[in-house]
Amino acid sequence: MNDDIAEKLATSVRGRVVTPGDQAYDDARSVYNAMIDRRPQVVVQAQDEADVLATVRAAREAGLVLAVRGGGHSVPGYGTCDDGVVLDLSAIHNVFVDPREKTARIGGGALLRELDHATHAFGLATPAGFFSSTGVGGLTVGGGLGPYLSRRFGLTCDNMLSAQVVTADGRLVTASEEENPDLFWALRGGGGNFGVVTSFEFKLHPVDQVVGGPIFYELDAAADVMRFFRDHFMAAPRELSGFFAFQIAPPLPFIPEARHGDTLCALVVCWSGDPAEAERVLKPIRAAGPVVAEHVGPMPYPVLQSAFDALVPAGLRHYWKSDFVRSLPEEAVETHMEHGPSVPTMTSTMHLYLSDGAVHDVPPDATAFAHRDAGFVMNVIGVWEDAADDSANTAWVRGYYDAIHPYSGFEGGYTNFMAEDDMGRVKESYGASYEKLRQVKRAWDPDNVFHLNQNVVPAK
Ligand SMILES: Cc1cc2nc3c(=O)[nH]c(=O)nc-3n(C[C@H](O)[C@H](O)[C@H](O)COP(=O)(O)OP(=O)(O)OC[C@H]3O[C@@H](n4cnc5c(N)ncnc54)[C@H](O)[C@@H]3O)c2cc1C
Repeated sequence: MNDDIAEKLATSVRGRVVTPGDQAYDDARSVYNAMIDRRPQVVVQAQDEADVLATVRAAREAGLVLAVRGGGHSVPGYGTCDDGVVLDLSAIHNVFVDPREKTARIGGGALLRELDHATHAFGLATPAGFFSSTGVGGLTVGGGLGPYLSRRFGLTCDNMLSAQVVTADGRLVTASEEENPDLFWALRGGGGNFGVVTSFEFKLHPVDQVVGGPIFYELDAAADVMRFFRDHFMAAPRELSGFFAFQIAPPLPFIPEARHGDTLCALVVCWSGDPAEAERVLKPIRAAGPVVAEHVGPMPYPVLQSAFDALVPAGLRHYWKSDFVRSLPEEAVETHMEHGPSVPTMTSTMHLYLSDGAVHDVPPDATAFAHRDAGFVMNVIGVWEDAADDSANTAWVRGYYDAIHPYSGFEGGYTNFMAEDDMGRVKESYGASYEKLRQVKRAWDPDNVFHLNQNVVPAK
């Protein structure tokens, strides 16, 4: 089987076909989360749409499991598999910007850094996640919450104008409001369930320099800082955004050396409005608690977008638990204070992101991303180095999550942050969209070829 499909693919694709005997195999099969150690039969490093078509068809004909990989950031490791075929899109990463129309066409395997780099040249941007190594593909089809720009311009998927999609039956189709609108609806929040997006077309917005960065506060002020984040940011103009974090102080030059390794809390801020207004906007934020250190200033937007890359490089071990959060009552703040301060490693954290403003402007049934009434998205993030510490770190994440979940106001979480053991609440995570997603799945992938994702089971 292995030789057959590898041979067939080698003669039909332009990209490299990597198999277990190859020197490149270990690199080709690895993903961002080092907890994931899977051994596919074949990895196809696709170069173009023809390669994607050939790989989907070949995997199907061979009856093999197919994993589709964009940036490889999925914490449960949906971008790889055991025994099957991995379709690696990372070489399909070109970005073409139309500055007059303020749109970009971007390859399905591009990373956020490639999107931001290309659009910034024209003083433009679209909201997306804040680690530059994340894949545009997985992020967008799952929704795409941009901690810095989503309050102002919506989710990444809200800015998608169209997509080119290779379907489960091996065809290339366009999805947009005009063409295949059911597929277009499902691709905006329904995850990788519906096909392989070979390119996205996005709407862009004028964003060039921003004023942003982290402000670290004393840990014993964390409850006040969290309350301030809840009350002040949600009432602020949409040009202000950011997130709350518990964070062990890394050894960075702007943090006093004596404080390196201390557990602190932080607000990471981004002001994308008039730079002349920035100091006025920042003043109350700096007064939210006793500041230990800060690194806030004017910078090109892509610099803020990649500011935390070095803190969490690829190859660490990850376990995350996430919820949509309606509001932050006092009991929830107190529960955060019982768990957040024991964050176990410098790379672990709890992040609270805002999910309001322009995210709420979109009706809940306009896209598959249904949770337009959440105020926040919470993510308890365990990241560590050594396999010997797996149980201690996963226990911290689970303990924190179990205690805080009852206050979230939702059963489901944001699918892009969900762990493999969250498969039991897929229905809740897609919320009111779930039944329609099942219908669209039946129309476009009745045999569930694309099942390595937060999986939607096709309707009968
Ligand atoms: C360090 C880090 C920071 C993050 N920050 C944010 C953030 O700020 N905001 C946010 O919303 N999310 C964030 N995420 C979550 C991220 O959006 C998801 O992990 C997402 O799935 C990553 O996409 P990927 O292409 O890198 O992943 P992959 O592992 O390659 O793929 C993930 C899923 O998407 C599917 N997929 C990927 N590309 C395509 C495509 N072209 N067409 C169809 N399906 C595709 C895959 O089949 C798989 O099911 C972050 C993740 C990490 C690890």
